[in-house]
Amino acid sequence: MEKQNDQSRMDRIVSLAKRRGFIFQSSEIYGGLNGFWDYGPLGVALKRNLKDAWWHDMVAGHDELAAPAGAPSEYEMAGLDCTIIMHPQVWKCSGHFDLFHDWMIDCRESKRRYRYDHLHGRWAGHRGKRAFVTTDQSGDEALPDTVAKAQKFFGLRAKQVEEIEWTGGLESLAGAIAAGGVSLGDVLGPDAAQPGTLTAPREFNLMFETRIGALAGDDEDRAFLRPETAQGIFVNFKNVLDTSRVRVPFGIAQIGKSFRNEITPRNFTFRSREFEQMEIEFFCRPADSAAWYRYWRDRRWKWYLDLGLTAGKLQLREHGADELSHYSVGTADIEYAFPFLAAGEFGELEGIAHRGDFDLRSHMEGKLVRRDGELVVETGADDKPRHRGSGKDLSYFDDVSRERFVPHVIEPSAGADRAVLAFLCDAYHEDEVPDEDGKPRSRTVMKLHPRLAPVKAAILPLVKKDGMPEVAIDLYRRLKPHMACQYDEKGSVGRRYARQDEAGTPWCLTIDGQTLADKTVTLRDRDTLVQSRVPVDEVVGMLRDRLR
Ligand code: ATP
Repeated sequence: MEKQNDQSRMDRIVSLAKRRGFIFQSSEIYGGLNGFWDYGPLGVALKRNLKDAWWHDMVAGHDELAAPAGAPSEYEMAGLDCTIIMHPQVWKCSGHFDLFHDWMIDCRESKRRYRYDHLHGRWAGHRGKRAFVTTDQSGDEALPDTVAKAQKFFGLRAKQVEEIEWTGGLESLAGAIAAGGVSLGDVLGPDAAQPGTLTAPREFNLMFETRIGALAGDDEDRAFLRPETAQGIFVNFKNVLDTSRVRVPFGIAQIGKSFRNEITPRNFTFRSREFEQMEIEFFCRPADSAAWYRYWRDRRWKWYLDLGLTAGKLQLREHGADELSHYSVGTADIEYAFPFLAAGEFGELEGIAHRGDFDLRSHMEGKLVRRDGELVVETGADDKPRHRGSGKDLSYFDDVSRERFVPHVIEPSAGADRAVLAFLCDAYHEDEVPDEDGKPRSRTVMKLHPRLAPVKAAILPLVKKDGMPEVAIDLYRRLKPHMACQYDEKGSVGRRYARQDEAGTPWCLTIDGQTLADKTVTLRDRDTLVQSRVPVDEVVGMLRDRLR
């Protein structure tokens, strides 16, 4: 049995995201653009809150005078904001120019393009005719998709499907070809009518190219949109060191856009072509790097839990030795069980990698490769470096121990859009609440952590008369300087609660007849639905405390 994913739940999340203005398709009025997404009024506030929480917790609010729990020592943090287009040599030395690619495969018949590693298939036979039937679907859709394709290929009616003889289970096309059991001539492409229409796999660099300047055309003008924010940090390492008073160990953090020309963007914003990253490069002594790696892995894991992601849906996965990049001593992924994945599958939110001295050395010496276990500068046929480094000294001199060394790097690299998507999926709940007459009413509620919620509080006069709006507007004006809040007087109070529940607003403050008598308001909690009376004058202080 294939494991089930929760596609219908995902569809409802996507529909709420659109309906309530969290996320829209980019350029929607022109039919949209695959792999590009816009954030609407609620979405932009959610994403900004998420990035602000990250920046506050990792950088601005970091206490440099004490070692946090689990840290080998105290450390400093600095921020940076680099350009999206950088000197092309940056990408040559980092390895992205040569190595940042996926394998793609084209179908000559359907003109469709697939990621080679996304194709799976199995052998099907019927009355002497055979084909390796492939699908580009994943999870529980893959197996039925191969059945439908085989049925069409063999020209069978629905009741004849049982006659198809299947050999072996679903396996990756790349694996089957590498093992020699399948050749491209046998393969029925996912959208093809006949076998043998898929081209040989080709490398496809994921970096978006552009040209600089008016005389664009010659190779010298060729530039790239950054596929990660990290490299901007490495090439500014010396600038930060020389201009601030940081000393190893310290981290440099950056939030910004990255671009990857993904072959098959999919699963809502999970795999986009334009997205935002939140990255830290943490520089430390080589001898302490394993301990710092463990610290950052655990610290980042805890961050998601503290902001309310369900522990059972989050997974910390250490990479096996075969998965590690050639320069990495250890890597762990923080993964979330997104509803579009099959049960038991997880999608990456963040990678925490021990990168050794690979990056700083690459930008000093030139592009590195591992030879006989050592990182050495890659050379061409002429024995010269394949991609020449900057030649600048990026080592660090410790004036206490009088030692000079190239710091090792721990990199926690998170995607802001994937995190927003995980928080949206996790927050989405459907339950029942009593309406004004006490009858159960189904509601959709986004149980976002108050720090992330786009609107923290809604101020609702019970009716539009008897002086209630005036008291409510006064409260709104007192609260607004401290947090995002909304004034809403339109419709029944039940409908107004429902609107706020869908937006994820944690607190509703209702001004009613009793307010006018005793200067208290009703505070309704989104999650527990508990309603309590709070003196108007205490609301601002109380909600500020709760947000802290
Ligand atoms: P994947 O294997 O899913 O393509 P990756 O391992 O290439 O991801 P990294 O290069 O480690 O990703 O990038 C760090 C983070 O940036 C990821 O954990 C993810 O949150 C985010 N990210 C990477 N690619 C995308 C994308 N196409 N769309 C949205 N976020 C992305």
